[in-house]
Amino acid sequence: MISACYPGSFDPPTLGHLDIISRAQGLYQRLVVAIGHNPNKIGGLSVDKRLQLLRELCAPWPHVEVCSYEGATVHFAAKLGVQALIRGLRSYADFNHERGMAEINRRHGFETLFLIAESTHTNLSSSLVRQVQAAGLGLEGLVPPAVAAALAQQAPGQEP
Ligand code: ADP
Repeated sequence: MISACYPGSFDPPTLGHLDIISRAQGLYQRLVVAIGHNPNKIGGLSVDKRLQLLRELCAPWPHVEVCSYEGATVHFAAKLGVQALIRGLRSYADFNHERGMAEINRRHGFETLFLIAESTHTNLSSSLVRQVQAAGLGLEGLVPPAVAAALAQQAPGQEP
């Protein structure tokens, strides 16, 4: 079975992430969306909340799984038995960062497949969403409604 892993923080999941998931799921028989968990990083949505949201959002695609992991992505990808890693590209800055990571991934036996979201989603990032939310502005067009609701419930400085 041809499979891939799409790793990321997804904190929070945005319409840009969903765009990439939607494209990648069409290319693979199994796609694992993997939430990289850094226990030293505080703030943002809890991993459990991100798991719940992404599972809901990926429900229309039965061959898409959502899970979380700690440690090196290539170690987790080896455990999953996938052939490729998916990453999204938004800018030259992403490209410059990702080309180094792709080299590391290749040394560990994984090719990295880069996808570009639709133009309406290319400028989206989780940090932009956080800034817009902090400014008290609406999140329409940036995140799915379920994510906007989860962010609205999140008390400042607390993980829901
Ligand atoms: P990370 O901390 O691993 O970069 P992110 O959750 O920020 O995690 O992003 C995960 C992946 O999704 C990265 O490859 C990132 O470039 C990609 N991505 C995020 N938003 C977009 C977008 N709007 N368009 C294309 N790719 C995106």
